[in-house]
Amino acid sequence: MRKDVGIAGGGVSGSLLAYQLRAKDYEVTLYDIVPKYSKPCGDIVPKVYEPPVPWQEKFRIKRFLFKLDGRPISEISYSRTKWVVIDKWEWINRMRAYVRIERPEHVKRHDFIIDAKGPYDMDREVVYTTRAIIKTNRFSDVAVFEFDTKYTGFYWVFPSEEGKLNVGAGFLEEKNSRALLAGYIKENFPDAEILDLRGAPISIGAPKRKDLRIGEARGLVYPLSGEGIRPSAISAEVAYRALERASNKDEFEELMNQDRRLRRIETQIAVQRALLSLYRKSSLPSRRKLLETLMKSEVLIDAYLEDKVDPQGILESLKGVKDGVDFRKF
Ligand SMILES: Cc1cc2nc3c(=O)[nH]c(=O)nc-3n(C[C@H](O)[C@H](O)[C@H](O)COP(=O)(O)OP(=O)(O)OC[C@H]3O[C@@H](n4cnc5c(N)ncnc54)[C@H](O)[C@@H]3O)c2cc1C
Repeated sequence: MRKDVGIAGGGVSGSLLAYQLRAKDYEVTLYDIVPKYSKPCGDIVPKVYEPPVPWQEKFRIKRFLFKLDGRPISEISYSRTKWVVIDKWEWINRMRAYVRIERPEHVKRHDFIIDAKGPYDMDREVVYTTRAIIKTNRFSDVAVFEFDTKYTGFYWVFPSEEGKLNVGAGFLEEKNSRALLAGYIKENFPDAEILDLRGAPISIGAPKRKDLRIGEARGLVYPLSGEGIRPSAISAEVAYRALERASNKDEFEELMNQDRRLRRIETQIAVQRALLSLYRKSSLPSRRKLLETLMKSEVLIDAYLEDKVDPQGILESLKGVKDGVDFRKF
């Protein structure tokens, strides 16, 4: 008999899981507080993953600039696409249109209820981020990371589509990322026309519990970069297969915990959390030194850009940067 599944939260993980189950004739109900997905994002995914429901690519990124306290430190250029900018809202809302959506207060009984509410239970440490889509004559195809050692976090400037940039900010010590972002845009893009401005939290710490959860609700976001689309989508793929096989909650969790892809993501996230904790305890001069050292290594930058700062990932980057990479230190 087909199971009846309720999913709380129709973002990346909830919508993808709902779509996959519905395509196999499961009874699925998605519960969300908003009729359409509109959460802000950098919309970036490293070009190492394709979801089972394809997304549209808006832009391809090959060049990256790293800045520290206002100074450029290094630039890396690839001959192949390293990151893609996806149309995340279109992708998610297309998947959501395929399933029944109800308000959370109308929740009914299901064989399984999966929590895919992203960071919104707020049972973990989060960083408050704001991002703007701007139109500017200073458009460039380079993705910029700008670190400020006074804070833990960064400003980003990512191409969004031709002529438009996705500019954002998120810092652990400063909740008002909107004000910092406004100052950053004024200084760097004085001609900017702000087309859209929104804020949302990103998980940094581990959630209190992870059972029957997927995506960011399960803590699957990389704390040093904020990358959460790929891990959330992978967790939805794994959850879909687990739901096909599991007859109860314990079996579901066992199947989730056994999955090798999820285990590797969790290890990589744990490494990033340990590095973040070290960074937060460091003095300002040590932070500067640490960041400069990282930014001057093309291998570590390469691993960071794909969130694989684990031994296997660093080894892959060591091999990967040998061909087709142009690296410049300032
Ligand atoms: C500003 C910003 C920039 C980011 N940039 C990137 C990036 O460039 N690349 C990347 O990979 N990741 C990025 N992330 C992280 C990424 O957006 C998330 O990790 C990812 O969307 C998490 O997917 P999810 O399915 O877990 O949850 P979400 O996509 O967060 O979806 C959660 C859903 O739950 C719903 N919800 C909330 N409360 C309730 C409730 N009580 N009941 C029911 N539903 C509820 C919400 O409405 C939403 O639809 C960014 C995040 C932010 C905030």
